[in-house]
Amino acid sequence: MRNSTHQPHRNQTGAADRIAALIQPRPFSDPHSDTTQAASADFSHVDLFSHAPQRSPIQRRWAVSEANELPEPEAQLARETAWSLAPPTPPLVQRQSAPPAIQRKKENEAPLSQIQGLPMYALLPKLLTLPSEVLSDEAAGGFVGGPRLVTAMRTVKAKGTAWLDFATAHNGELAALPTDQIGDIIRFLGAPQEARYFKADQFDGRFDGAVDPAKALVTLFFRVKFQVAEGARFGAAAAGTPAWEKETQAGLQQFKADFKRVVEESWSNKGTVQPACPIGAIRSFQTKVVVTVVESGEHKLIHIFSDSAEGRSNMGAEGNLQVSDNQAKNETKQVTDPTGRHPEQVTNKQIPAAHEFGHAIGLKHPHCPGGDDNCYGVTAEERRDIMGAGDKVQVIKRNGKVIHDDFMAFERIAERWGKDVLPGALAKCNQWSAG
Ligand SMILES: [Zn+2]
Repeated sequence: MRNSTHQPHRNQTGAADRIAALIQPRPFSDPHSDTTQAASADFSHVDLFSHAPQRSPIQRRWAVSEANELPEPEAQLARETAWSLAPPTPPLVQRQSAPPAIQRKKENEAPLSQIQGLPMYALLPKLLTLPSEVLSDEAAGGFVGGPRLVTAMRTVKAKGTAWLDFATAHNGELAALPTDQIGDIIRFLGAPQEARYFKADQFDGRFDGAVDPAKALVTLFFRVKFQVAEGARFGAAAAGTPAWEKETQAGLQQFKADFKRVVEESWSNKGTVQPACPIGAIRSFQTKVVVTVVESGEHKLIHIFSDSAEGRSNMGAEGNLQVSDNQAKNETKQVTDPTGRHPEQVTNKQIPAAHEFGHAIGLKHPHCPGGDDNCYGVTAEERRDIMGAGDKVQVIKRNGKVIHDDFMAFERIAERWGKDVLPGALAKCNQWSAG
């Protein structure tokens, strides 16, 4: 589908040189020491594999919603079912997120108040001239200028750190600002002219994306909010008891940390995306996922259910996961080769949360879009895919044609970047492929 022919440098010299000047060449297969293997606990004794065929009417509906965004009425019904099963978090779980009381100093308000109405590009250098005590008084900043001023103050305090590190730590704050102000902030932190941070409105609300051409890196930012479904149990205590409250608090914190870890490990540094022709020194971008657990400004709200709850984990308009979904589960399955003639057995390991994350960023099952078991793959290659029943982030081709591409979201970010920064002669390179 995509033209992956590598074109020679023709009519590109000016723009290519300009970009090349900003970009350090970098080896494609940079080893990443921070990438560790996903949890390898053996859960083969667990009967409930999230995607095993299930038969009750309710489970069937959930299974359909798993294929997300099907126009069929049944898919709509499935989302409604998910809704009705997902009441708001009990008050006791929310209690812990109450903000700490902060004292602001009256004398810090005046200098902040005087400049807070400036455009971002003018505000940042003005803030830089203020004493650090004023800059650190975020309570005063929030009082006189709201979240925008607080983000600007944090930007100025962070001057000297890499722009992408700041964006990683504060992606929710950036996404709350207009696009031109995000540009002012990252430029203030030293981002090259071609660096970009894109908000989720560019990607159907599913994720934010950033491109750092100097690092040859595409980053996908995913903000998730978790809600514990009523009566969900992380341990053995009876719902509503003090022991259950304690277990739920601890379980939720663990779940948040585990989800971030397993999704980032499963999806980061698994391959590169390439433009149709080289862009300056850039021949490919590495790919990375950053998960941020938030209380607001999320891309996806996910309800957490007990492992014993009916229904499959899924990602409809709102997501549903089970307590153990951050742990790998095994499946052994009889499959065929692509000709359908030669049966073989494959055993796959999958972390259900990592699979569901793929749906959340817009991916479907490798064999067909629905929730039937064969949609998870009828060949070993399909079955091993992270969107099948396995853990491989890959591109599946048949007869030279791409039939499934787990890197689609990264290619969309790269393409959006290309629209901004590739001038006329290079525009033809703005078609991206992976693997
Ligand atoms: Zn699925």
